[in-house]
Formats: sequence, C-alpha cells, structure tokens
Amino acid sequence: MTHLINAPSAFAAEALAGFVAAHPDHVMPVHGGAVRARQTPQGQPALVIGGGSGHYPAFAGWVGPGMGHGAPCGNIFASPSASQVHAVARNADNGGGVILGFGNYAGDVLHFGAAAEKLRAEGVDVRIVAVTDDVASGPVDQRLTRRGIAGDLPVFKITGAAIEAGADLDEAERIARKANDATRSLGVAFDGCTLPGAEEALFHVEPGTMGVGLGIHGEPGVEDRPLGTADEVADLLVDGLLAELPEQHTGRVAMLLNGLGTVKYEELFVVHGRVAERLDDAGLTVVRPEVGEFVTSLDMSGLSLTLVLLDEELERHWLAPVDTPAYRRGGAVVGPSAEAPARTDLYAPGAEEIPAAAAESQACAGEALRLLESFEATCAAHEEELGRMDAVAGDGDHGQGMRLGTGGAVTAARRAHEGGAGVRTLLVHAGSAWAESAGGTSGALWGAALTAAGGALRDDAAPSDAEIVEALGAAVAAVARLGGAQPGDKTMMDAAAPYAQALAETFARDADLGSAAQQAASTAHQAAAATADLTARLGRSRVLGEKSRGTPDPGAVSFGMLAADVAARLGAR
Ligand code: ADP
Ligand code: MG
Repeated sequence: MTHLINAPSAFAAEALAGFVAAHPDHVMPVHGGAVRARQTPQGQPALVIGGGSGHYPAFAGWVGPGMGHGAPCGNIFASPSASQVHAVARNADNGGGVILGFGNYAGDVLHFGAAAEKLRAEGVDVRIVAVTDDVASGPVDQRLTRRGIAGDLPVFKITGAAIEAGADLDEAERIARKANDATRSLGVAFDGCTLPGAEEALFHVEPGTMGVGLGIHGEPGVEDRPLGTADEVADLLVDGLLAELPEQHTGRVAMLLNGLGTVKYEELFVVHGRVAERLDDAGLTVVRPEVGEFVTSLDMSGLSLTLVLLDEELERHWLAPVDTPAYRRGGAVVGPSAEAPARTDLYAPGAEEIPAAAAESQACAGEALRLLESFEATCAAHEEELGRMDAVAGDGDHGQGMRLGTGGAVTAARRAHEGGAGVRTLLVHAGSAWAESAGGTSGALWGAALTAAGGALRDDAAPSDAEIVEALGAAVAAVARLGGAQPGDKTMMDAAAPYAQALAETFARDADLGSAAQQAASTAHQAAAATADLTARLGRSRVLGEKSRGTPDPGAVSFGMLAADVAARLGAR
C-alpha cells in the first residue's frame, strides 16, 4: 500500500523529480529520465539503463561514475517509451556510442529497440543488452528468452566499470554479454504489491505459502510451496541456483541477496547467514557479497538470490569503485569521469532540428509525404474492418491504432517537409510520430519500420531505385528484429517477409521498381489472407490463439493494404 501520494498518475514523475533534487551532484533531469550531472569524456561509450519505475534503486539510482550514464524512467512497472529512451540516450551519448541495458520484458524490448532504430538512423552506434538472469522464467536451453530481475545490478555494475576503465563500445558490449551469461537469479514472494493509488494488490500469495520464481511484477512463478523457515528458504534459493552451475567455473562468485520491498534487513541477514554457509559448503568463494534492496517491486514481500560466476576480468570490474546515488563502493572513482565539469548542453525532443538537404532529396521527401497521406486515407477507410478483425482474438484496437499512427506520421512529415527536410529526416521524424501516436505493438513496429527505411536513405541525394528497394527491405528487417516474430506466428511478418523477398527477387530480375513493388504487394495481400489458416502464437492474440483461426491477422492485412499504396505511388513516378 502506498500512503503518500498526490495524484496516482503523477506518482512516477514526482518520485523522479524528488530523486534528482536529492542528488544534484550525481544526476540531472532530462526528457524521459535522468543523466549524469557531469560531462562524460568525449568518445566514452554511454551505458543507458532503464525500465519501469517502481524498482528503485533500479534504475535511476545507478547513474554515476563507474555505472550508468543515463536512465530512462517509465511509468510504474511500464517500459519507458521509445522517445524517452531516445532522449535520454541522446543526452548520455558523447560520441562513443550507446549500450541500451534493460531487463528482458516484451515492452522494454520493443521500446528500447525502437529507440535504437532511431539512434542508428541518426548515426549513433547502439548495442542492446537485455538481462536474462531469472532461472524460473524459462528453461536453461532458452536462457536468452528469460526475464531480467536483480541480475541487472551486477551486469550493469560490471559493464559500467569496464567503460570507466577505458573499454570502447565493442569491448563494453562483449563484457556486458559475458556478465549476463555468468549471472543467474531465483526469487520467492510472500505477498504481492499494490500500485500507487490502487486499493487492491496486483496479486496475492496465499498466506503461509510462497510463490517460487514469481516475477517482479507478479508474473507467474514455478510453483507455490508452504512457507518454511528462513533456512529452508535459503536452501531453496541456493539449491535452485547450484542446479544451474556449469561444470567449468573458477569457484569465485559475486552474490546478491535482494529484498523486493518489504522484507526487513534483519530478515535478509538471517537468510544470508545460511546462504553464506551453503555456498561455502559448495566450494564457492563469495567475492564482496551484497545484502540489501537493489531491484525492488514497490511494496512486494519477497527476496531473490543472485550469483555471478566470476573470472579475473569480471571480478576486477565487480570490485572497481562506483559512485551513484544508490550504489557506492570503494571510495572515489579514479577515472576520467570523476572531476568533469557540470553538463550544460541538453537535448530535448521537439527541438529537433532539420538538417540541410539536397533539392533532389527534398523532392523525394515530398513523395514520401504523399505516400504517408495515402496510408492515412487507407487506414481511415478500413478502420472498422481492421478493428473487427483484431477483436476476434486481440483487443480490437488495430484499426484505431493504424489511423492514429498514420495520422501522427503525416503531421510530423508535413512539418518536416515544410522545414525543408530530406527524405531520410522526414521518414525518421514520421516514424517516431507514428509510434507515439498509435501506442500498441503495431505502432511501435511501424514506427521502427519507417525509421529504418529513412536511415537507409540520404538527405544529400535522391535515392536510386535499388536504394528504394533496400530501404523497403530495411523497414521489414526492423520489424523482424524488433518483434522477433517468425513466419507462421500469425503476425504482420507473415505478410512482410514474403513481401520483402518478392520485392528483392523481382527487382533483381527485371530492374523495374514499379512492377516489382506491384508484384510484392500482391504477394503480401495473398499471404495476409492465408494467415486465416494459422493459429496466433505471439502478441496479445497468443492467449486466444485458437479463436483466431478462420480470421486473418489484422496486422498482416493492414500491411498488405499499405504495400498496395507503396506500389501505387512507386508506379506513378
Ligand atoms: P496491440 O497488439 O498492442 O493491440 P495492434 O492491435 O495495433 O497492437 O496490432 C496487432 C498486430 O500487431 C497483430 O495483428 C500483429 O500483426 C502485430 N504484431 C503483434 N506482435 C508482433 C510481433 N512480435 N511481430 C510482428 N508483428 C506483431
Ligand atoms: Mg490490438
């Protein structure tokens, strides 16, 4: 229960404002989150870490020398939006590229991924590291699909230390992935948590029992068990992690015993006594143990145990000094970040300037605007039909999302066109606006598609036909990368993948853009209709997969419609 609230909807933003005011030497507010208050060295990679609010000290509490460079902060338990992630990353980047780090949840994957597409289109080198430490959330042979919990702390601590020690972006990414590979956690919960302003908890655990492996937002765990003694809980956690130890390891581990919100420090210490004993019995040497609250879940009652298998490199970075509002260790950080001057030059979205463009690219931008206008008209005309299709097994908002998304894209594209934008800039602006205006999964995917298409084109020249084919392929590739769907999952990809293939093949054969686009559009249309025979396995429709049989996938159908618009415009050139 949260006792101190003004307006529930303002809770996360007010908490962030109060947090930065409490730590003016470390952090300063920017659009979407916080960044370090001091300048970072030119060319140093920026570690941008985030997720929903409600998990403090994660993630804003870890911004400072030796750890994060910035933290986008979403609403309570909700991913930050792509524009929040983008703005924080722009402010954190100082020419060394960006690592986007977050716990592996669908919403975060989508929004951080969309921000990465935009940053890349702007010329920033971006790497994505999703933390996957929770052993209860997936089988060991699918480790990279697991969700992230308290393992965020050691993974980001180690990555930040490597960057402080001089790692470039490739090296920092390598170490971040290695740290994630070495990190495993298991948690238990004794009761649920309550969103600020809500009367009822999000979920409950039966009194006298514990949810083993329950996620930090109440996602289902492995099983419910009777709540035992502190030692029994410690044994369960240790046994769960020892079962996953690889055969080869150095015997040295970092250990984190993490309280989720309402477990007292004394309770944690009682459990830790047994954990330490058990790890010692197992022949493991614990290096610099941590017991306390690191990744919380509002007022959730529960705890988790994390182990990181260390080698010399990981141990060195684990032990390095760090100085952030919520996590400090080892005195002063000796490094280039320690005594830098305060930040002044901040980026705010909306102040996006339009880079100078060649007249040929501006003319092409005009055609892109007309294409987007036809998208908007198509989506408005089919709004109800797409909504009905989505209502069969989804939530019925696909038509509305497409109309709002294309509408937002047109508004942004018009503004960019009037400002003299080239085709690259126009599409990048339109992509962000689509994602922001639509909300929903398809909005994020279409936004990224436009952004990626723009990123493949140029402001200083008109694209050749081959470059347009490439840009359309880049758009589909972005949807595949971001959504992770395979053909057969019954999503937009069932139309988009054959579309991209038909387009590339027909163009390679005939070298005629108009007819290749036409051919690809009719392939997409047929492929979309054929999704009626499939059962949905991804997205919201997954839950009602069987119900979706007999109805085509709405996202695939709308893709086919817009592919026809593309063909019409390219054919009319
Ligand atoms: P939401 O699912 O958030 O309500 P929409 O209703 O606007 O969003 O869009 C639903 C469509 O999004 C689906 O019909 C499907 O085509 C597409 N979609 C959902 N998840 C994915 C994914 N992982 N990859 C590609 N497309 C997806
Ligand atoms: Mg929907």
